[in-house]
Amino acid sequence: MNGMRHRSADAGAYGRRLSRRAVLRALGGAGAGLLLAACGGDGLDPFAAPSTRDTQTVAPPDPQPAQQAAEVAQEQAQQTEQTQQVEQQQAAQEMPAEPLPTPLVYITPRPTPQGHAVLIIADAPGAGSAAIAWEGEAYALLQEGERFFGFIGIDALTPPGPMPLSIGVWAPNGDQLLWQETALDIEAMAWPQDNIQIDGPNAALLAPEVRNADFEARTPYQRFATPERHWTGIFDPPNEGQITAGYGELRSFNGGPISEYHSGIDFAGPSGAPIIAPGSGIVSWSGRTERRGNGIIIDHGAGVFTGYYHLSEVLREAGDIAERGTAIGRMGSTGLATGPHLHWEVVVRGVTVNPVPWLRLLEAPDPMQELDPVNAITATNLAAT
Ligand SMILES: [Zn+2]
Repeated sequence: MNGMRHRSADAGAYGRRLSRRAVLRALGGAGAGLLLAACGGDGLDPFAAPSTRDTQTVAPPDPQPAQQAAEVAQEQAQQTEQTQQVEQQQAAQEMPAEPLPTPLVYITPRPTPQGHAVLIIADAPGAGSAAIAWEGEAYALLQEGERFFGFIGIDALTPPGPMPLSIGVWAPNGDQLLWQETALDIEAMAWPQDNIQIDGPNAALLAPEVRNADFEARTPYQRFATPERHWTGIFDPPNEGQITAGYGELRSFNGGPISEYHSGIDFAGPSGAPIIAPGSGIVSWSGRTERRGNGIIIDHGAGVFTGYYHLSEVLREAGDIAERGTAIGRMGSTGLATGPHLHWEVVVRGVTVNPVPWLRLLEAPDPMQELDPVNAITATNLAAT
């Protein structure tokens, strides 16, 4: 089950008020550390030379470099803290006397259907940083203007019910402006079921080892959040073909038990049909696995990725810029495919979510959407009590 994620038993560990320092310390992972590094105000150009991007988009694939990266991340976090302390001292001298307004927090959609991306926004004029605590991890929110935002992916098979989520916002001088504990309400979806017949040599591709090898080859390249947003607005469809299979479909093969869900949507079309980037980003992986055939992954930043599989041809490599509307590959039937089609995925921090809302004007999780303060979450600000 690609990206399947069970509710963590210790999710409640964050059900308490955390200091900014504690939240930042919890950001000890490699990707999170890199994310932090840019929170220091690097002002990275999303389309800068590849050398500066590689370290941010490509996560270390095995534990040894991961540990080193965590140490580097820790150092970066300390440096960031020091830089921030200097900035805070400077800011304190220039700070107006009146207190900063209480940040307004928005979570959409609420309740959250299984298989959906969740957008968390904090409108916080004058604030210096913001983070969320989720499933035992802390993530810094990205800042654009007076708005902080971030995405969470909810797996199609996440158990329905409440899942704790906390949001913190801090002033430039480190004072906590907001600490809010809330919960996502996960709603069950009635996914359709399908049995698929796979005959001939392709049947060997159903082996769990083949599926796991594919998953392990690609997962490091669609998991960590680049601290920039490369796309704007909604995504374009990546292909002109008809959608022939939806996200979430529960699948069994050759009459066996349900073994996975369909982690994306399929577009049908002729072999060789162009596949275009639905939004701008940077290619984080291109390659081939037995199960998925030729594939490519675009990092759109902010933890949002798109993946394209069974291609006859890949037209971009890791590190390349993929501008919205430009060709990145050609439709094919490589890997486990019963005919030419594109398998298209939207991935949020390693979790495959339903791509369809990202194509729809009124449903796409646009972090810059206009929001009515009436719809802000009204709950006790624990930082003020
Ligand atoms: Zn598919």
